[in-house]
Amino acid sequence: MDFSVTDLSKERRHGIMRCEGWSDDCPVSLDILKEVNVLHKDFSGATKQGSVIVLNEIADATLKIFKRLFEIEFPISKAIPIDYYNGSDVDSMNDNNSSGFNCRKIMDKDKWSSHSYGTAIDINPTQNPYVLIDHKKAEALIYPKKGTMFLNRGLHEKGMVEPIVEIFSQYGFTEWGGNWIDRLDYHHFQISWEEIEKMSL
Ligand SMILES: [Zn+2]
Repeated sequence: MDFSVTDLSKERRHGIMRCEGWSDDCPVSLDILKEVNVLHKDFSGATKQGSVIVLNEIADATLKIFKRLFEIEFPISKAIPIDYYNGSDVDSMNDNNSSGFNCRKIMDKDKWSSHSYGTAIDINPTQNPYVLIDHKKAEALIYPKKGTMFLNRGLHEKGMVEPIVEIFSQYGFTEWGGNWIDRLDYHHFQISWEEIEKMSL
């Protein structure tokens, strides 16, 4: 399959519709999503086939990003669409999986995540964890737990995303969760909400 953009297969559509977050209220139709098939290096340097599901309007840009990541041999643990995890973001993060579309609400909020629009991509959650501040308990929740050892962003370990923030930005993913203030989502790249609102969804 190499690098290509394809429509969602029947099996994929059925898989997505069985996911825990899927409902008739999901903000985009499966008809306007594409599966971007990519090659990537894993942490052992082996070449792997993976895929990422995104909105059709940004499928080509996504393909170009993953071609660049492959060229520079940026390691990605795995890239498996979220229906493999029954839509569980926590399970996907625990498996250090990189993924795009997932119809779900933002953790601890009643608002659709940009993943629900197919306009966000997460890369290597272990090396790039999600840090959610629980103000009531005055503690930080780290997802996945294994990511705790990568909270020091000065480590420059393999698979940490800082060297590729610019590549994502060049192709329209101008928002990086590592720059957020209320929560730090180091593995998260997305199209800005301003751009999403301009799209014909
Ligand atoms: Zn994300």
